[in-house]
Amino acid sequence: MSRYEFTCPECGQEIEVNESMREATLSHGCPVCSASVGSSDFVAEQETN
Ligand SMILES: [Zn+2]
Repeated sequence: MSRYEFTCPECGQEIEVNESMREATLSHGCPVCSASVGSSDFVAEQETN
């Protein structure tokens, strides 16, 4: 499953999210401060195993 590191541009909160959480955050905004966020606020994480 794809995982992403989300960093809020407004409050600076860093959250590790999966694909569905990424979609929800793009739709509803930061879960901490509700700021609207864009796809550039997510960085895909590489699987390491
Ligand atoms: Zn925020």
